[in-house]
Amino acid sequence: MINRMENLVSTGKGDIELAGVAKSYDGNTYAVDGINLKIPDGAYCCLLGPSGCGKSTILRMIAGHEDPSVGEILIGGEDVVGLDPVERRTAMMFQSYALFPHLSVRDNIEFALKVRGIPKGLRDDKVDAMIEKVQLGEFANRLPAQLSGGQQQRVALARAAITEPRVLLLDEPLSALDEHLRIRMRAELSRMQRDLGITFIHVTHTQLEAIALADMVVVMDQGRIRQAATAPEVYAKPKDRYVAEFIGGQNVLTGKIGQLNGSQATLAGSMFSDIRIPLDTRRRLEEGQPLDIAIRRDDIDLLRPGNAGVPEGSTSISGSVIGVEYQGNFVKVMLQAGGEEEFVAYVPERRFFEDALSVGDHVLAVWQIDHAHLLA
Ligand code: ADP
Repeated sequence: MINRMENLVSTGKGDIELAGVAKSYDGNTYAVDGINLKIPDGAYCCLLGPSGCGKSTILRMIAGHEDPSVGEILIGGEDVVGLDPVERRTAMMFQSYALFPHLSVRDNIEFALKVRGIPKGLRDDKVDAMIEKVQLGEFANRLPAQLSGGQQQRVALARAAITEPRVLLLDEPLSALDEHLRIRMRAELSRMQRDLGITFIHVTHTQLEAIALADMVVVMDQGRIRQAATAPEVYAKPKDRYVAEFIGGQNVLTGKIGQLNGSQATLAGSMFSDIRIPLDTRRRLEEGQPLDIAIRRDDIDLLRPGNAGVPEGSTSISGSVIGVEYQGNFVKVMLQAGGEEEFVAYVPERRFFEDALSVGDHVLAVWQIDHAHLLA
């Protein structure tokens, strides 16, 4: 999925724009507020955030199951507020799949065409093509109860896609599946989105799911968007502490700026005294100013003190090992570095076992100055 955003050539039919959108269910509190978002046609977009942050509300407003209290929603440049889902040409796939238990796979997929009054001959052609696309040929006459979870998901997807929507909306589509199946179906969703070539908007509270699938990740917090960017950008350049902590894989350090000089500055905090940080030319910083920075856990190298010392261009903090967890291809080493916050390094497995660390060992956690990322 990496960088596919740049290659998306919008035909304008399924691009979505939310402008100044807010929704209150009770007239008092806002489930979402101040939402401005543009999703290009053909993108795979994930709305990511903890439960209750407003993801499903946004999904339902795009689908046409709710209307915003204020603001505009445009699909393909057309204001769709007040239109029903059929008029908007959106389709929704639910977590429970909501398949008709007494209808066969084929009849489930055909249903939406029947209610739209499409003639039998045309219906059959479309259903045949869709069944082939989702590879359900050998199951066409089975009932939903005779299918695996993954196969049921394919039927649900086919049933939503058969109406040729401009946008397909998926509400936690993988959460009912076990871990193994979830990863397989994740790949399948991605493949089907590419085959269908339509905009997918997928709601999830699982970071890895969003990172793996999305061209565009929208990180939400309490009804607002914190960051909307490509997956690599959200992961490598989280905008603020919230995004860095929610996406994970980062150490977030809080401190105050010490000396500023040229392209670098020093930062002092409760668990370190003078680490060096890169300066961002687009941002004015002042001595004494509080600042959060993030350093990826896999950018940290652990050295025994007294050995070679900190390499040129790197900076470090010292700490002691309080936990070691084997994770297969890497080892998670947890450090106590003086402050409240834990500091974690992901050390590649081979490197770790060259000189295995144990709980209680003193280490220097070292990283390249340029690898620290300044947060808002
Ligand atoms: P998420 O999908 O991120 O879990 P929701 O969009 O479902 O979040 O909910 C956002 C907020 O709006 C929550 O506080 C929730 O309780 C409230 N909410 C959602 N749906 C309704 C509704 N139909 N009526 C009243 N409040 C609702």
